[in-house]
Amino acid sequence: MGSIELSAVEKWYGEVQVIKGIDLAIDEGEFVIFVGPSGCGKSTLLRMIGGLEEISRGSLAINGTDVTDQPPSKRGLSMVFQSYALYPHMSVADNMGFSLKTAGAPQSEITAKVSEAARVLKLEDYLDRRPRDLSGGQRQRVAIGRSIVRDPTAFLFDEPLSNLDAALRVEMRYEIAKLHQSLGRTMIYVTHDQVEAMTLADRIVVLEFGTIAQVGTPRELYESPANLFVAQFIGSPAMNIMSCSASGGQYTLWGGRGGTGPNGAVKLGIRPEHITLGTPGDGQADGVVDVAEYHGSDTFLIIDGAELGRITVRVVGNTGLRDGDRVGLTFAPEHTHFFDAQGLALARP
Ligand code: ADP
Ligand code: MG
Repeated sequence: MGSIELSAVEKWYGEVQVIKGIDLAIDEGEFVIFVGPSGCGKSTLLRMIGGLEEISRGSLAINGTDVTDQPPSKRGLSMVFQSYALYPHMSVADNMGFSLKTAGAPQSEITAKVSEAARVLKLEDYLDRRPRDLSGGQRQRVAIGRSIVRDPTAFLFDEPLSNLDAALRVEMRYEIAKLHQSLGRTMIYVTHDQVEAMTLADRIVVLEFGTIAQVGTPRELYESPANLFVAQFIGSPAMNIMSCSASGGQYTLWGGRGGTGPNGAVKLGIRPEHITLGTPGDGQADGVVDVAEYHGSDTFLIIDGAELGRITVRVVGNTGLRDGDRVGLTFAPEHTHFFDAQGLALARP
């Protein structure tokens, strides 16, 4: 129970196509995250799965049954939104049990299910309160509790943490991970925050203008981005991208030196933690330290690479380097990424 399959799913608003043919199979119990910049179609895709938006073309199956034309109530899914959408005049317990009550469930069953959800979400002490007397994180937990009592086949979350402050987001992220562990249910979760995506997902779906840029585990996307879009979207600070040319199995950076690289490469990518610092003339390029951002556990050095542009280097702990120091930059060859003129990744030679 809990597999979801999209086949050639499209969404058109009049003449405008916002979802452009999505094929995706989600396994039972999987935690899948849709991530991408604002407006790329994440919410639209999630709402089509939930039945809140019509599917213009293509089909959707849940547990092997075609539900493309079924209303939300027949799909067995439950949605949690960014705005908690709680009833202000009802207690926490009544909010959580409301859907069971309208479905005509006996009071004993409602009480049992609400108590169990409250236990899982640590809301037992708040069952008699009104939503206005709760913190943002507690309200979000009530909204999640309302989904749990319905015992859905799968949970759909649309940016559930976006309204919370940074510290609470980290706490709720942990709680959602625990919830997935304990319930073992399929979860589809939309976010524009790549840290949430990396930390929570079994698999990430990166969306770009209504198409899938790449699907994979967080590690696959981080280590082997299929294209420039994913390379620059996943990872913080972002991957450094530089222009190059390549022939005869060797690449040359514009404004730098080179190494072994695939023919046809026009861009080289290297993550900040895969560059080591040395003396000018070392490695692939030289640059001047522009700013050193000390973060405690790491320092991010922003290097002015002249023609190469700005290059970020991550150093564990601190460094004795200061603004204006000249350095040589060595790129770990096993961690260089190459992209062709279409922005597609090329295999390292
Ligand atoms: P995301 O959740 O990734 O930010 P959305 O799924 O909300 O993006 O929107 C995707 C695109 O669809 C956007 O360009 C948005 O303007 C467009 N869109 C969403 N709803 C409608 C609508 N009812 N009519 C026309 N265009 C819409
Ligand atoms: Mg959205």
